[in-house]
Amino acid sequence: MTASQRPTAGRTMMEIAHVVARRSTCARLQVGAVVEKDGKIISTGYNGAPKSMPHCTDVGCLHDHAEDGSPVLSCIRSVHAEVNALLQAGPRAEGATLYVTHYPCKRCWPVILNAGVKQVVFHTEYGPWNHRSEYGDVKLKKMKGSFGETK
Ligand SMILES: [Zn+2]
Ligand SMILES: [Zn+2]
Repeated sequence: MTASQRPTAGRTMMEIAHVVARRSTCARLQVGAVVEKDGKIISTGYNGAPKSMPHCTDVGCLHDHAEDGSPVLSCIRSVHAEVNALLQAGPRAEGATLYVTHYPCKRCWPVILNAGVKQVVFHTEYGPWNHRSEYGDVKLKKMKGSFGETK
């Protein structure tokens, strides 16, 4: 392997996020996240049902409905990958970088801020994605290229 073929540390983290995403049990979307600090992985997470609740892959996703009755985009049963990774990281997420396969949703951004994450690196734009300006000054980076994703 030549030096030019060697993936960067950041790309390796993102690749791990994509591997972790395959463990997701939400039929809607498989998301993976990695909390990294000083080149070390602190924790990983994927989206899925909370403890003791049935998996979306077994019983279908749970959709909240807007007042006009139209279905909303996201599944409200799943705990999102970012939140699961940050829960596992606990106070060690302070000053860390969060690698996530998809752009974080509006529910995740406040959690990311309160965890003390300093940088978010995402791969795929998702949903109404460019809303981050509402949520503080976390550094944001989009990583390009392919990670062998299945959908
Ligand atoms: Zn679901
Ligand atoms: Zn989210």
